[in-house]
Amino acid sequence: MMDMHCHIDLYKDYEGVLRRASENKCYILSVTTTPSAWIKTNKICSKFPRVRTALGLHPQLAHQRYSELAMFDNLVGYTRYIGEIGLDGSKEYKEHLMIQIEVFRHILRVCSHFRDKILSIHSRGAVDQVLSNLLELNVNSKPILHWFTGSEKQLEQAIKQGCWFSIGPSMLQSHRSRRLISLMPKDRILLETDGPFGTLKGQILEPPDVYYMAQYLGNVWDLPDEEVSNQLKKNLMNILQEN
Ligand code: MN
Repeated sequence: MMDMHCHIDLYKDYEGVLRRASENKCYILSVTTTPSAWIKTNKICSKFPRVRTALGLHPQLAHQRYSELAMFDNLVGYTRYIGEIGLDGSKEYKEHLMIQIEVFRHILRVCSHFRDKILSIHSRGAVDQVLSNLLELNVNSKPILHWFTGSEKQLEQAIKQGCWFSIGPSMLQSHRSRRLISLMPKDRILLETDGPFGTLKGQILEPPDVYYMAQYLGNVWDLPDEEVSNQLKKNLMNILQEN
């Protein structure tokens, strides 16, 4: 199993979370929200062979932390994984959209100098802008849209542009999200929790809880558990395959 978008460093008991994930043989992409957080988180997570730490600058923090872009540039060569990055056009963050776009574009440009970065991207309320910037500036990286909440038309465009989707149990609470999940191509789907932000029935999700999503996909795809798990494994291998 895999959790391709999890904020390990933001759990109170992150050591317990890592231990339980490790016992369940769960692969984790531990995303960070600032470049300074990457250094510390990478140190903690690198003791676990199934965990990788992504270098990020979260769009909701872009207006406060854009000065860390220089640090981003210094660290970008140390990891293949980038996130959490992206844009947030929702009510609370719309006023900072200009600086978010500047930060996002900078990161996409920097990543295009490498061959095979994997990007975990937030696109809440800004799917069109995320997609148009990817179209213009993304050359070599593989974009994963995490917790996608756009329209069906935007989903279609994202698929056309080669985006992947990481989906988690929290999305099952929304009828619209369930509809979107049913429209995503089987071979572009990865699992996530977005813990500790992601919850299910009021409980904070941990990496092994991606199991609920795998189980749900079995119903959507009408496939036995084993085939679902094979498909997801294949997807993970595909995205990790270097260009
Ligand atoms: Mn997140």
